[in-house]
Amino acid sequence: MIPAAAAATDPGERFRFTCQPGMACFTRCCANLNLVLTPYDILRLKRSLGVSAEAFLDRFATASTDGTCGLPVVRLRMDPETGRCPFVTADGCRVYADRPGACRLYPLGQALKQVGGHLRQRYFAIREPYCLGWDQGRVWRMAEWLADQGLEAYQRMNTPFLRLSTGRPLSAFKQFGQRQLQMYFMACYNLDAFREFVAGSSLKRRFALSDELCRRLREDDEILLFFAGRWLEFALFGAGFLPRTVSQVLPAPGVTDR
Ligand code: SF4
Ligand code: SF4
Repeated sequence: MIPAAAAATDPGERFRFTCQPGMACFTRCCANLNLVLTPYDILRLKRSLGVSAEAFLDRFATASTDGTCGLPVVRLRMDPETGRCPFVTADGCRVYADRPGACRLYPLGQALKQVGGHLRQRYFAIREPYCLGWDQGRVWRMAEWLADQGLEAYQRMNTPFLRLSTGRPLSAFKQFGQRQLQMYFMACYNLDAFREFVAGSSLKRRFALSDELCRRLREDDEILLFFAGRWLEFALFGAGFLPRTVSQVLPAPGVTDR
C-alpha cells in the first residue's frame, strides 16, 4: 500500500479519526496490501487460527528476500483473485483480536531508526483518498491511539527483532550463508520449528540454561520468541549473551518515541 499522503507526526500530536462498521469505506483498506508480518504478528495469528506456524506460513503468507539487506521477509498473502486480505469478511476482520500490528496502527505508519543503541520510532499519517475516517469522530493523541489499539505488546515483543535488522551496516548481513538465513527465518517466523530445534539441541547443557527457562521455552510462546531474538543476536551477530534464566530473556525497554 502506498500512502496517498504521508506526513510526519509526533507523539503529542492530535488527529481526528473514526472507523466503524457501517461506513461506506468499511474494509476497503483490507485489500491490495503490502503487509509485512513481524514475528509477533505470526505468533498471534497462528494461535488465533489454531494452526502451527508452518501451516500459517503455507496458507497465508509469502516469503521473499529483502532487496537491501538480504534477510528473509514474510508478507500476508492477499487473495490472488480478489486482492483481498484472507481474513476480511463482510462483518470485518475475522482475526480482529489478533490482527497484525500494521492493521492496528493504521491509519498511521511507522518509521524506525537506531540511535545510540536505542530504537527511535516516528509515526506518520496515511491519508488514503478512499478512507472516510479522517477528520471524523473522536480526537486522539498519538499515545492514546497506540494504547487503544493494543500496540504496546506488539512493540515490546518485536523490539528484539527490530534491533537485529535496524542500524547495522549492510556488510553485517551480506556475510550470511544459506544456513544462517535459514536459522534467521526459523527463529523469526517458524516458532514451532525453533522450539523443536531448542529441545533437540545441546543449548541447555552448553549454556547452563535453568530448568525453569527450559520449561517456559517448551510451554510459553512469548518467552520462546524473546529467546529466539536473543539467540539470533548471539549466534548470528556475536552480540550480547545467551540468557540462562527467564528474567534474562525478557527485554530491557528499548523503543522510545521519536
Ligand atoms: S475508515 Fe478508513 S480504516 Fe476504517 S474501514 Fe474505512 S478505509 Fe478502513
Ligand atoms: S488482518 Fe484484518 S484488519 Fe488486517 S488487513 Fe486483514 S482483515 Fe484487515
